Amino acid sequence: MSVLVVGSVAFDSVETPFGAAEEVLGGSATYFAVAASYFTPVRLVGVVGEDFPQEHEALLRRHGVDTAGLARRPGRTFRWRGRYGYDLNEAHTLETQLGVFADFAPQLPPAYRTTPYVFLANIDPEVQLQVLEQVQAPRFVACDTMNFWIEGKREALLATLRRVDYLLLNEAEARALAQEPNTIRAGRRILQLGPRAVIIKRGEYGVLYLTPQSCFFAPAYPLEEVFDPTGAGDAFAGGFMGALARNGALDAAAIKRAILYGSAMASFNVEDFSLRRLTRLTPAEIEQRVAEFQRFVTIEEL
Ligand code: AMP
Repeated sequence: MSVLVVGSVAFDSVETPFGAAEEVLGGSATYFAVAASYFTPVRLVGVVGEDFPQEHEALLRRHGVDTAGLARRPGRTFRWRGRYGYDLNEAHTLETQLGVFADFAPQLPPAYRTTPYVFLANIDPEVQLQVLEQVQAPRFVACDTMNFWIEGKREALLATLRRVDYLLLNEAEARALAQEPNTIRAGRRILQLGPRAVIIKRGEYGVLYLTPQSCFFAPAYPLEEVFDPTGAGDAFAGGFMGALARNGALDAAAIKRAILYGSAMASFNVEDFSLRRLTRLTPAEIEQRVAEFQRFVTIEEL
């Protein structure tokens, strides 16, 4: 089953203690789409400017991503500049240039409207809502966000949250959204805002999955070298939603398995800058890493 993603398609400039990259391909929808493409057909909704090279769009298409929903508008593509210190879990945004994003009103191609799995990646929550207005009875809707929108567009974000099944966000964002320093309590408070489950991403400490009745933790892959954490959250979401859409089931076991696929895709993503690692994967490597994850989280009978 197909997955639709709306989010940013961007030029990123990133500095980490291990290197730097200038104006490389990034964006929440880009990372998500490439990660999910290993599991299921992906339809992308977004906008780029006249400065966006054809080769970037061609790369998405090579991964089977349908780019009929990627609009090209006069102006400049969205740009994000960020820096990470030794604590790679925390991105410091140095600059955000909205460019063509500023007045983007997405129009979904008719074929996209019945997509069963919808992911509202990190983008203006008003744009997330406009996409939700255009899809017909999706089976599963999840969304992501970030501090930029939590602080700048809280009301629109709360309106989006009332209409989604799952919210995925990182720990600092969960605290900011819930206005609560304790992560578990922040998660519980977010569940009262609409979603029936929340996945809190904790970088190298893995993810926490919370519903009103249950709780599940998955570790991050124990990597010795992490070059660039940019896009890890979106790669997680792509692996998670892609695995769910491929499998078709939404029961607790399917969700847990999808969390391991998401964790595997995030772990590959941080091994190099931009989408370099994510675009060079084989299905066998993914399955092997998921099997390793499974060994990490399984305990023999106590
Ligand atoms: P992640 O590291 O998974 O949280 O996401 C990183 C991606 O988010 C980068 O590739 C950026 O281009 C993108 N990004 C950063 N700020 C924003 C924003 N305000 N809206 C949408 N996308 C953004």
